[in-house]
Amino acid sequence: MRKFFALLMVLSLILTVTACGTTTGSNAPADKSAEMPKIGVAIYKFDDNFMSFVRRAIETSAKGKAELILNDSQNNQSTQNEQVDMMIAKGVKSLAINLVDPQAAPTIIAKAKAANIPVIFFNKEPDASVLKSYDKAWYVGTTSSESGVIQGKIIVDAWKANKDKWDKNGDGKIQYVLLKGEPGHPDAEARTKYAIDEIKAAGIGVEQLELQTGMWDSVKGKELMDAWLAKHGDKIEFVIANNDAMALGAISSLKANGYFTGNKYMPVVGVDAIPDAIQQIKAGTMLGTVLNDAKNQGQATFDLAFNVATGKDVLAGTKWKLDDKKAVRVPYIAITKDNISVAEEAYK
Ligand code: BGC
Ligand code: CA
Repeated sequence: MRKFFALLMVLSLILTVTACGTTTGSNAPADKSAEMPKIGVAIYKFDDNFMSFVRRAIETSAKGKAELILNDSQNNQSTQNEQVDMMIAKGVKSLAINLVDPQAAPTIIAKAKAANIPVIFFNKEPDASVLKSYDKAWYVGTTSSESGVIQGKIIVDAWKANKDKWDKNGDGKIQYVLLKGEPGHPDAEARTKYAIDEIKAAGIGVEQLELQTGMWDSVKGKELMDAWLAKHGDKIEFVIANNDAMALGAISSLKANGYFTGNKYMPVVGVDAIPDAIQQIKAGTMLGTVLNDAKNQGQATFDLAFNVATGKDVLAGTKWKLDDKKAVRVPYIAITKDNISVAEEAYK
């Protein structure tokens, strides 16, 4: 009898232990990370001012919803290609790709297609025909030309209001230098073209003193501006930059050359409205910029990537809309001293 009870005790102990080991009851802490889908993200390089804000927005949106595998592609397309292979091998359910080279979209699509994984491109727009070639590919970004048009309008309005002071040689034309982003980047090409077209369309003459690429980079922007000031000095009447990072570089060069003290002034415009640029606008050392909404672009990128990772319709439960090129486009907004709070809000 005692043996029987002992056996019973042992049995019940075993049962309790097994039960504990497999507890899935409602009291057990839910292991969320096990349920969260893996999403693979690649940024063309972490060392890009604007992209660091987009990255932050993606990370914030993903909290508690998805496990992100984040990659710095270090401005190297073959590195990015390997990262995509690696993420697919790790079992990501979708990819969010900020291409290094916009022309590399077909390579990424081939990899995604082979693994039957959806891909959301963002910030560097692939050709529409490439997006079309894969039913599980979309784009999140902006309408590139819009930023150029808006920047051109800021230039036109300010020039008209200050012509007497700013037209230093009195020829009625704007002698400008232009800091271009990465050649071949749809944003750089469109901003360069449309900003100048807009000025011309307003009936203002232009003379291009310099146009070179500063590769979106502040240090390069400063170096170019140093050289241009040494060469042209006061003949320069306007500094037009494809983004704020380069505009900020130009401003530090201008400061070092005695601008923004006394009545020595130079109008400088950029694109993005990153916090450092907002500071310069407030201080009066930058004329204006165009808000490139990093927060909403990051949010939309994540929303789409998350939806497709979980088998939902790409737009399910979101406020985003797709155009006929399978793209979500976040609008640009002109930013000057008058509406600076709009930009501050977007980069909070
Ligand atoms: C931004 C730049 C950024 C680039 C990166 C552009 O939309 O305006 O600041 O360097 O994207 O691809
Ligand atoms: Ca002039």
